[in-house]
Amino acid sequence: MSSPPVCVLGLGLIGGSLLRAAATTGRQAWGYNRSAQVVDAAVADGFDASTDLTATLRRAAHADALVVIAVPMPAVGSILEAVAEHAPDVALTDVVSVKAEVAAAVAAHGLSRRFVGGHPMAGTAESGWTAGTAELFRDAVWVITVDDGTDPEVWRQVAELALDCGSVVVPAESGEHDAAVARVSHLPHLLAEALALSGAGGGDLALGLAAGSFRDGTRVAATAPPLVDAMCEGNAEALLVALDETLDVLTTAREQLADRSTSALTRAGHEARTRYEQRR
Ligand code: NAD
Repeated sequence: MSSPPVCVLGLGLIGGSLLRAAATTGRQAWGYNRSAQVVDAAVADGFDASTDLTATLRRAAHADALVVIAVPMPAVGSILEAVAEHAPDVALTDVVSVKAEVAAAVAAHGLSRRFVGGHPMAGTAESGWTAGTAELFRDAVWVITVDDGTDPEVWRQVAELALDCGSVVVPAESGEHDAAVARVSHLPHLLAEALALSGAGGGDLALGLAAGSFRDGTRVAATAPPLVDAMCEGNAEALLVALDETLDVLTTAREQLADRSTSALTRAGHEARTRYEQRR
C-alpha cells in the first residue's frame, strides 16, 4: 500500500519541520499557514504552501491525504471547524502536546471516526517556520494514541509517517500520555520558570556567576509563554498532581534543611541520583 500524501495545517516549528521531513521521504506534501509571510517563506524554500485553508482542505479530501493539525491548542477549534466543513472524512491526526483535550474537541466536531492523536516529543525553544528542520523528529519518541474506537488503518498511516520521519513510535492512551507528559514535559517548564525568577532575584552578581547547572535547569524557560500556557492549561488536572508531589518533595527538603538534617537530605539526593541513572 503506498503512503498517502500529507497535508500540514500550521507551519511553525513542528508543522514546518513536518512538511520538510514528509517531503524528504518522497511523499506528496503541502501545508497551510494563516500568515502570507510564512507561506511566502515556505514557497521560497521550495515547498508547497497556501494561506487558503478551504482550498488546502478540499485538496486533502480529494487526494485522500493524511491531515496533520500543527497549531497551538487555542487554535485547534477553528481548524476543526474548517475540517468538519470541507474535509469531514479525511484521516486526521495532530501534534499538540496534550491529548485528551484535543480528542474531546475532535469529538465535539464529529470527527472522531478517522482521528488518531499524535505527539512528537521533539522541539526546541525556538518557534516559527524558520526554526524548522527536516531532522527535528530523528530519534525522537512520537506518541500515537490508542483509545476506544481508534481506527487501525489511520493509526498505521500516522505510525508510518512518524517512522518515515525517523521517530520511534510509542502507543499510549490519551489520558496516560497526559499524566506522563505532565511530569516530564509540562512540570519542567514551571520549574525552569521558577528557577529563572529565583536566579534573577539574586541580581547581577548571581546571574553573572550562573554556569552550567543554571543554564541546563532554565533552558526551557525560553519557550514562548503562550505555548507553555496552552500546554499547562490543557493538562491542568494531571499537572496539578505532578506539581503537588513536587511541592511535597521541596517542602520536605526545606524542613530537613531548616532542621539541619543533612542525613535525610543526603538520602533523598541518593534516591534522586539513582532514578536519574536508571533513566539513561
Ligand atoms: P509555532 O509557534 O512555531 O507555530 C504555530 C503555528 O500555528 C504558526 O504557524 C502559527 O501561524 C499557527 N497558528 C497559531 N494560531 C493560529 C490560528 N488561530 N489559526 C491558524 N494558525 C495559527 O509552534 P509549534 O512549536 O510549532 O507548536 C505547534 C503545535 O505543536 C502546538 O500544539 C504544540 O503543543 C505542539 N508541539 C510543540 C513542541 C515544541 O517543542 N515546540 C513539541 C511537540 C509538540
